[in-house]
Amino acid sequence: MTMTRNDADTLRTETSPECAVCARPGRVLYEGLTDYLAGTAGQWRMLRCPDAACGLLWLDPKPLAADLIKAYATYHTHGASRARDPARLWHSAVNSACKQLSRLLELGSALGRQRRELRTMFIGEGGAGKLLEVGCGSGRFLNRMRELGWAVEGVEFDSVAAARIGKRFGIQVGVGSLPELRYAQDNYDVLAMSQVIEHVHDPVALLKECRRVLRPGGRLVLSTPNALSVAHRLYGRSWRGLEPPRHLHIFTPAALEITARRCGFQILKLVTLSAESAGIYRASELIGETQGGRRAGAASASIVRSWLMRYREYRETLSDPHAGHDIFLIATKQAAAPPPSDLTVFAPRA
Ligand SMILES: [Zn+2]
Repeated sequence: MTMTRNDADTLRTETSPECAVCARPGRVLYEGLTDYLAGTAGQWRMLRCPDAACGLLWLDPKPLAADLIKAYATYHTHGASRARDPARLWHSAVNSACKQLSRLLELGSALGRQRRELRTMFIGEGGAGKLLEVGCGSGRFLNRMRELGWAVEGVEFDSVAAARIGKRFGIQVGVGSLPELRYAQDNYDVLAMSQVIEHVHDPVALLKECRRVLRPGGRLVLSTPNALSVAHRLYGRSWRGLEPPRHLHIFTPAALEITARRCGFQILKLVTLSAESAGIYRASELIGETQGGRRAGAASASIVRSWLMRYREYRETLSDPHAGHDIFLIATKQAAAPPPSDLTVFAPRA
């Protein structure tokens, strides 16, 4: 391992030439990526695993774990203040109108069901138990699940966000990473991670720790950006899902499946979803505008287009199950799968 030391504002890095899933040397996919979201110093290179049966993307070099916190200094869990200028308010109103119209048009459809099920990460109301969310951000998911009868706890590495959840909701949140916190084993019925695994240095160690703290038969539910998504195909290096340098590994459905199996999980459901992808298209257009000097056109039109793109993506998932923006996994710790009636799952063709 070679280390590069830089000045105080720059993240120190380590090389990471091999795929974390299958150990093959990666090939360069993108170079010169920058942190368009939070302005962290540095340029980043993303590699892709050459094995089509894996296809993992990862940063090489990647920030040292000890320095990565610097890349979150202005990140969203800190609740950046929202400017109240008229243009921003107008764009927010356009987005809300699109959202409401979509909900109306999707009533009774599989896409509408996806959106509703994602609010509870497909766990639903079927039986409360102990739930731990890793990377609990704003705490809204935990609060929602508590209202459905679950006994909830959170893990959050951002101490500011963790303190806010404690104050606002009175929910217990451990500060740090899951492996650091050493929870008791066989202790939780559900372990939830929404958009977290792409941020960690060692996804295999994280999933092994998830398995250890779950009770036998307990379930892991997680979502993460999909390297094979329509949005990545269309926007390439401007794709919002790349998010350097905070996204260290970007999975394909196959790479996630291999990783989960290796960590001792049995896969119950592995699908890609489109319900939450409108914002991704809007952000990817803006990134393309910033990076390439291209004009995306009027912001209102771009917002409307993002909702149409979400629907187009969903339509594509009906023929290509890998097209959706987010990979969604449900896996269990036990060797035998529970009966199908025990699951609340998304059936793309329903
Ligand atoms: Zn690989």
